[in-house]
Amino acid sequence: SVPASIASALYAGTRSGLLMKGGSVIEAAATIRQIAFDKTGTLTLGRPQLTDLKPVDISEPELLKLAAAVEMESSHPLAVALVARATEQGLDIPSIQNARVIAGKGVSAEIENRRIYLGSPQYARDMGILQPETEASIEALEEAGKTVVALFDDTRLLGILALRDEPRPDAILAIRNLKALGITPMMLTGDNPRTAAAIAGLLDVEFRAGLMPEDKVKAVQEMASRGPTMMVGDGINDAPALASAHVGIAMGGGTDVAMETADGALLRNYVDDVTAKIRLARATMANIR
Ligand code: ADP
Ligand code: MG
Repeated sequence: SVPASIASALYAGTRSGLLMKGGSVIEAAATIRQIAFDKTGTLTLGRPQLTDLKPVDISEPELLKLAAAVEMESSHPLAVALVARATEQGLDIPSIQNARVIAGKGVSAEIENRRIYLGSPQYARDMGILQPETEASIEALEEAGKTVVALFDDTRLLGILALRDEPRPDAILAIRNLKALGITPMMLTGDNPRTAAAIAGLLDVEFRAGLMPEDKVKAVQEMASRGPTMMVGDGINDAPALASAHVGIAMGGGTDVAMETADGALLRNYVDDVTAKIRLARATMANIR
């Protein structure tokens, strides 16, 4: 049976906003020395805003319309932002066929029998689409902390779009408080190193960027091999990384898959609830011993 002190810690945890799925999770939480955080939606608000449109040989509304169309079936935060903006502007979003997701890279779909791709600059580079003259403007946007996506077909670039996401105010607090507890925080992201560096600078946290979903899992496994590790994430592809940590915590607004795989959930999406819960777990275990 669960000792009374753990039961009360579980209860207090529910009130404080971090629900953990049982006494063994509380025990593990007390030992955590490192925490891997997903960037988008966990350390940032996850509500990117479209800031720049740079079409190539098409109009700005045309660029936004095509980008929104290709994103129609995606639930990625970038997709949500682009579809919302196109809808706000009253654009007539064309219908798509055979939509595909390329995990960690982007999406594609057919519009009037022509396949259109939208994804990271690296994806466009891999497809041989990016010209040197575009690279400079991408670099400038990324250094400003924006995420750039490229729209292209099988032969040429149709334009680039930049979106800005902001750090959660409570994430800045959480990073500082966790360090004070002797815990090493680490930001993991599929976003590019320049954008990641800008965001990590605001948060004052170490980071690893340009990670494919499988690289995130490897990064968590590496951390876990060095010592007790927690992972906090909400991303569409985070479930395997959550499962690789000693303790996996899903953001409250996370996907169903992430919630099922996780050992706990941040019910009110307040990242610093993690700190409170680790303090409580440590105090609880100290009382038992
Ligand atoms: P993270 O959750 O760490 O931000 P993801 O693996 O979700 O990383 O995405 C990595 C990168 O791949 C994004 O920064 C973006 O450039 C590109 N990408 C992924 N999904 C999409 C999408 N639906 N639309 C456009 N770009 C995408
Ligand atoms: Mg993600």
